[in-house]
Amino acid sequence: MTIREQHTVTMDKIVALCKRRGFVFPSAEIYGGFANAYDFGPLGVELKRNVRDHWWRTMVQSRDDVVGLEGAIITNPRVWVASGHVGSFTDPLVECRNCHNRFRADNLPGATIGDGGTVAVPPDTPCPHCGQRGQFTEPRDFNMMFKTFVGVVEEEATVAYLPPETAQSMFINFANVQTTARKKLPFGIAQIRKSFRNEITPGNFIFRTREFEQMELEYFVRPGTEDEWFAYWRQARMDWYRAIGIRAENLRFYDTPTAELAHYSKGTTDIQYRYPFGWGELEGIASRGDYDLRHHIEASGEQLSYFDEETREHIVPYVVEPAAGLDRTLLILLLDAYDEEPDNQGLRTVLRLAPAIAPVKAAILPLAKKEPLTALARDLHAGLKRRYLVQYDDTGNIGRRYRRQDEIGTPFCVTVDFDSLDDHAVTVRDRDSMAQDRVPIAELEAFLREKIEG
Ligand code: ATP
Repeated sequence: MTIREQHTVTMDKIVALCKRRGFVFPSAEIYGGFANAYDFGPLGVELKRNVRDHWWRTMVQSRDDVVGLEGAIITNPRVWVASGHVGSFTDPLVECRNCHNRFRADNLPGATIGDGGTVAVPPDTPCPHCGQRGQFTEPRDFNMMFKTFVGVVEEEATVAYLPPETAQSMFINFANVQTTARKKLPFGIAQIRKSFRNEITPGNFIFRTREFEQMELEYFVRPGTEDEWFAYWRQARMDWYRAIGIRAENLRFYDTPTAELAHYSKGTTDIQYRYPFGWGELEGIASRGDYDLRHHIEASGEQLSYFDEETREHIVPYVVEPAAGLDRTLLILLLDAYDEEPDNQGLRTVLRLAPAIAPVKAAILPLAKKEPLTALARDLHAGLKRRYLVQYDDTGNIGRRYRRQDEIGTPFCVTVDFDSLDDHAVTVRDRDSMAQDRVPIAELEAFLREKIEG
């Protein structure tokens, strides 16, 4: 593999590639767009699906102690009162009196976070928009939950919220899942679903948007064992990012300083990625004690506890929560895989995505648009597409076709040439090394499977 330098990739290059090749489009473009909203195109949905599937296989399918759930998006608002979100899912908001732009106070240069999460902004801080100094209002709490109304009457009694995280579904269904799936501690409930936050300062493409998808696990453990499980999930989650092909030097742990922890939290570690705009969060892993279950027990009056058959006691489990963002994972996959290298035609842009994650696994390319080459190529395509997403392309010269596939991260190009008609073999070109292997047609599927599924 060639040595890649971090500075070859910029957010602008990724945004342009995503638009040009159909990964991500600005939403509602024909109406002038909609700030910080994006639509996922044909390649974007495939990439997302591969990430979801990989996460699910790792976190649910390959384990005996985790089961899945899909909770309603719009549900009883009492859930959000009990969870504390109605009262305190807030970010500190300041407004510049000069230009009236609004910012998250804790993101301003020099801002400090004191006990209880209060934010102090230095008096002479310049506004990031207009540059005027000392014009900020006092920070006020801004609730980030989107509100809506259920039914035909818009009044307080019909208010519902869009969920800002997926976790509460797992807590309110704790007893349903535990008894029906017959799980003993420790065990987990996993969910992949959309979340919604009315972010004050969205931005950096799909890094921070108001609608995004989360992949979350609530892992319930015996009180007293939470530290070892926290250490376990911290490492397991880091290993997962390595398994989907992210380079080690672009990943790190960041432990939240104790003073900044939520009062119920025994520890929070973020897995951070080195984005072009600096290190930033990718996933949060939190040791949440029994905070969530206890609040729902108190508010609902229901028994959300676990009956321990050994001690014959009801216990309220503690929870360790790894919470990942699907959109951010997509972004780091593209950033990490993006490469440019000089070649005989100028500059080759290549996405070095892991074969298991790449949206298109192989392209079938007849060397010339002529029968019977095209018929043989179409046959191969028809066979392979039962198992994988593969493309057939017979337009343009072969070099251009390779470049198109390189740019979307297709790991293998299968070329059908005139010799193929006699020797019943094809040439398989490797995206990264550009090495070419002659492979008998009868062995092609097994050859690809070995490389894609390992
Ligand atoms: P941040 O500090 O970046 O606002 P957070 O600590 O509020 O994130 P969590 O509540 O821990 O985030 O959510 C878990 C994960 O969900 C984040 O690590 C991120 O990957 C994803 N996520 C959270 N908010 C957004 C958003 N607005 N847009 C895209 N992804 C998000």
